[in-house]
Order: sequence, then C-alpha cells, then structure tokens
Amino acid sequence: MKLNIEEVSSYLKKHNIRPSYQRIKIFEYLIVNKNHPTIDMMYKNLAPEIPTLSKTTVYNTLNLFVEKKIAVVILVEENETRYDADTSIHGHFKCDDCGCVSDLNIGMEKLTIPELEAFQVNEHHLYFKGVCKDCLESR
Ligand SMILES: [Zn+2]
Ligand SMILES: [Zn+2]
Repeated sequence: MKLNIEEVSSYLKKHNIRPSYQRIKIFEYLIVNKNHPTIDMMYKNLAPEIPTLSKTTVYNTLNLFVEKKIAVVILVEENETRYDADTSIHGHFKCDDCGCVSDLNIGMEKLTIPELEAFQVNEHHLYFKGVCKDCLESR
C-alpha cells in the first residue's frame, strides 16, 4: 500500500491529530511496512531520513496514535511492544526463528465462542507463535 503525504495528512486530521512531518512519516512507515515494528525498529529506520527525530518522539507519537485509535499495540511478547496501524480485527503470528510478526486473517464470523455471547468485548488479541513459512523452507 502506497500512500501520499496528503492522504496521510487528512487521515490524521480526521482523527484530531495535527499532521506534523514526523507524525506523517511515522504513520506512513506503519502502513507501508506492515512489519509491526517496535519503537527501536522505527527509530533506526526513520532516523536517517529525519535527523531531528528522537526515540521519545517516536514513543509519544505512537502513544498518541493508540489513544486516537488509529494504531493498536501488539503484545505477542510480554517484554516487547509492537505497533500496528491496521486497526481491523486480525491475528498475529510471531516467528521464534527470525522474529517477524505477520498478519493472520481470522474469520471472526466463523469463530464461535459461546461463553462470550453474554459479554461485551472491547479488545481482541489473537496471538500465535511458531516458525514462519520462510524459515521452515530455509531449514
Ligand atoms: Zn521466520
Ligand atoms: Zn497486524
């Protein structure tokens, strides 16, 4: 998915976020790479392009995105916080070999959980761990 600056900018504005250059770049990175990065990963990748960027800015910006509900936190690993700009309901698979986190399309309409019918669900976290296809093929 390729977005232009104006599209990202109006998306941020629609969610009451002032579209600064750094915020646009951080959001664009999430959408384009879809690699569910950590703050460190994002900082390392964006710092060469944005010399004024600090890790604190990345951290604060991602927290703002989560607060405004245009990004979600992924805690597939308890000591590792990752971020995703895809806020639709989907699952994640973490590879124990290469550490990649990929998206899983979970057919929620086919998933029946009788115990949940009487409950109100506010968040979904569907995590799987194992070895990804690429790592299995290169073994
Ligand atoms: Zn892998
Ligand atoms: Zn995802």
